Amino acid sequence: MRFEKENWDVIIVGTGPAGACLAREISKQHKKVLLLEKGQADLSINIPRMLKNNEMMFIGNGKTLVRGIRSGGTSVLYYGTAYDPPEELFSKFGIDLASEVEELRRELPLAPLKDELIGPAAQKIRESAVSLGYAWEKLDKFIYQDMCTPGYFPFDAQWNATRYVNDAINSGAVLLTNSEVTKVIVNGKQAVGVEAIVQGERHKLFASQIVLSAGGLGTAQILQASKINKAGEGFFCDPITIVQGLAEGIEAGNEIPMAAGMMFKNEGFILTDLTLPKLVYQLFSFQALRPHRVWQHRRTIGIMVKVRDGIGGSIKRGKVHKVFSEADKLKMQQGESKAREILQHAGAKRLYSTVWTSAHPGGTARIGEVVDPNLKSEYDNLYVCDCSVIPTEWGLPPTLAVLALAKRLAKHLLLRSYHRR
Ligand SMILES: Cc1cc2nc3c(=O)[nH]c(=O)nc-3n(C[C@H](O)[C@H](O)[C@H](O)COP(=O)(O)OP(=O)(O)OC[C@H]3O[C@@H](n4cnc5c(N)ncnc54)[C@H](O)[C@@H]3O)c2cc1C
Repeated sequence: MRFEKENWDVIIVGTGPAGACLAREISKQHKKVLLLEKGQADLSINIPRMLKNNEMMFIGNGKTLVRGIRSGGTSVLYYGTAYDPPEELFSKFGIDLASEVEELRRELPLAPLKDELIGPAAQKIRESAVSLGYAWEKLDKFIYQDMCTPGYFPFDAQWNATRYVNDAINSGAVLLTNSEVTKVIVNGKQAVGVEAIVQGERHKLFASQIVLSAGGLGTAQILQASKINKAGEGFFCDPITIVQGLAEGIEAGNEIPMAAGMMFKNEGFILTDLTLPKLVYQLFSFQALRPHRVWQHRRTIGIMVKVRDGIGGSIKRGKVHKVFSEADKLKMQQGESKAREILQHAGAKRLYSTVWTSAHPGGTARIGEVVDPNLKSEYDNLYVCDCSVIPTEWGLPPTLAVLALAKRLAKHLLLRSYHRR
């Protein structure tokens, strides 16, 4: 294969927000970048296919976890809500992401929704929460709002990482999809390349610098196969439940999710409105043993409770397992009871909670334990940049944080490559 003969400046594994952002930043500076992506280009939500591809998996006690194995990573499936990375969490390691967040805020369509784009369910929930005295605020969204009108939100209007992948390709980066990296090739203390199954064939690919951005689960697997066994010992996944009820006189079902919400920082959870896509709503109704609710999507209003779970469980040989602690369960109960209060006050009836699922696996290669504050691993030239490096329990939508970490790492790698000349 011709790519095998190249000596790449940087190989980046994974095209989620972190990998795509790195590829974009580094290829803009005329470096030779190879992006290896296990999945294919796929923008669809097809639940049987997601189960087959391990995008949706069971992690213990019937609880599920969702991630994207496709070009653009999990951002192709996400709900486009942005939270600033908590300063105090990174400053302990001497990491300041303020200038990177500022850059991202200039580049990306980050803003709260205009009032006219907030759907009827989110509006009803917000009015109820505010009248109960909660500080229920609009949330920043990754949405090109000019492409939307009330009730019309084309898929393209929500930013996802495929946009950065395309920018990187336009600057000369090479993307190989259907290419799964299995391990890092090491020479003494130095990483020199990766082994990968590229479109069904095993290959060795070499680079001056390698970055693993295969996500909270994928990166841990590659690190373990490369004899960094501390990776994957414990993780967070920010479990969620959605408290849903039926409301009269509402045409819900088709709206931008997570328009507004509130963080209960000390209690360890956040609440937001959440209208699920119809297919997911139907799946969740079945899972919660409420098949009769399958056809009530348009009358349903719901609040998502997202909990900051403790680091626990493990990822071993690709198997992901976690049993949530009593403390995690208590946080969820507290969140659910506030969600019920707000929904009942909004007039919703016949409330129930969906089975726990989670969508933010991370903390599997924590800063200070598996990587240093520059995100370098114990091998020279091997870096990690994605949700794995988040140093502790989290509880927030992480995309803006991983994008900022990627921008910061890109600057570090570019600086190193200039010093090497
Ligand atoms: C339903 C849902 C809603 C969400 N909503 C939000 C939200 O509103 N706001 C927010 O901030 N976050 C949200 N998230 C989470 C967010 O999408 C992820 O946290 C984010 O995409 C993580 O970025 P990442 O770069 O760390 O990893 P990922 O996006 O998971 O990307 C990892 C990439 O690596 C690839 N890969 C894995 N293994 C290998 C391998 N061995 N070789 C090559 N490639 C590999 C994968 O295919 C994937 O492309 C949501 C997630 C879900 C599922």
